[in-house]
Amino acid sequence: MPSGPTTIDSGAIPKKRIHQDALRVISRLRRQGFEAYLVGGCVRDLLLGRQPKDFDIATAAHPRQIRRIFRNARIIGRRFKLAHIFYGDHILETATFRSAPKLEDDEDDLLITDDNDYGTAAEDARRRDFTINALFLDPIDNEIHDWVGGLDDIDKGLLRTIGDPDVRMAEDPVRILRAVKFATRLGFRIEDKTWEAMCNHVGELERSAPPRLLEEIMRLTASGTSLGAFRMMRASGALKVLLPEIDAFLGTRDDPDPTKHERAERYWRLLEALDSDVHNGNEPSRALCLAVLWLRIVEASAGLDHSTREQEGAADLFDVVSEVLEPLVQDSRLPRRTFIITRRIIAEQHRFEELPGDDPRALLFTRTEHFPEALNLFRLRSAAWGQGWERYEAWKLAFDEMQSASEDDLEALRKRGRRRKRRRPRKRRRSNA
Ligand code: ATP
Ligand code: MG
Repeated sequence: MPSGPTTIDSGAIPKKRIHQDALRVISRLRRQGFEAYLVGGCVRDLLLGRQPKDFDIATAAHPRQIRRIFRNARIIGRRFKLAHIFYGDHILETATFRSAPKLEDDEDDLLITDDNDYGTAAEDARRRDFTINALFLDPIDNEIHDWVGGLDDIDKGLLRTIGDPDVRMAEDPVRILRAVKFATRLGFRIEDKTWEAMCNHVGELERSAPPRLLEEIMRLTASGTSLGAFRMMRASGALKVLLPEIDAFLGTRDDPDPTKHERAERYWRLLEALDSDVHNGNEPSRALCLAVLWLRIVEASAGLDHSTREQEGAADLFDVVSEVLEPLVQDSRLPRRTFIITRRIIAEQHRFEELPGDDPRALLFTRTEHFPEALNLFRLRSAAWGQGWERYEAWKLAFDEMQSASEDDLEALRKRGRRRKRRRPRKRRRSNA
């Protein structure tokens, strides 16, 4: 018989840190006689003194009952139904308690494909992934219920699966990436058995839905702790399964060739630059994140080394980016538009090798749609590798000045550009690497 919860007073969490609308939803459900709690990430974050991203609610009320109580609720989800309760543009996700899916006796494949049984609060806590994500906060009676040892783990800074880590990772290998996300974001240590299970099950990541995997990878990249996350993915073997080209590019730890280590070092510096950008409050776009991940790999396979002032590799880069990113469009539902922007900003990096000066083509380039993103990527690489700051400043200045250019100014530049082109035909030389 599973034991009851540990319950503590939630006094440490001031009411004003809980969203008013969440309090409203919970007290209304309670008045109608339904159990209801704040659950998941928000309770964890409140206990850690962090601002929760959203306030999720779990309740004994079934979706149709929720719909009856809240006129501003909409039922969503095809298989597992939950309610979205709308307050202006703010949505509160309100889910009915679920139990862990029951295995048929003859089933030895643990992968969860159906997750749709209603349950009790205790069952709903136990089906969650990590102990720190399974705390239930009752903001009416000011209590926190813990069925899984999550309070202890929060105190210790420990990330641990609920139940047998081997089973939990096999059930849903995406939990490997979730573990990386929470451990790096919160600075938690991963409990030994949980880590072992992560390493044991990386191969099964191939069985998870590619769009879900891409989503987690993109979130890790934009998290502000991408350096730690990618190092942890590499150490666990997940990187080799998910992004084998990047893993291979980084080489092996015991490679006798020192240039390989330098290569990896430079790769990590670029992630670090992205992280510090996030800490400065810049939210990187998906295209910028993808470009950061792939830039070095693409340049290396096009035979472009960072130090050469080779300018004519753009056509090759275009093809190489297509080769590596097309599969993401096909299999992982990467929006084609994101792919196109990523390809463009990688392929255009060579233009920053020169100062813009008063070259009409350079000035017109600053007015193209994706110039700001291309310049962002150049800024990150300058920050990472300590080269090219003067060029960055010059291009930034040109960009700022060109913002006020009129249509007539642009036309004059185009004309000047055409004249120049006739005088000095551009050599088309393809990189021979
Ligand atoms: P974040 O702050 O990134 O939103 P979160 O903990 O809220 O973190 P979500 O992905 O929003 O994470 O999921 C909400 C909750 O649902 C989690 O806290 C966890 O309890 C549960 N959960 C989410 N994904 C899984 C999973 N793959 N397996 C088991 N439980 C999960
Ligand atoms: Mg969440």
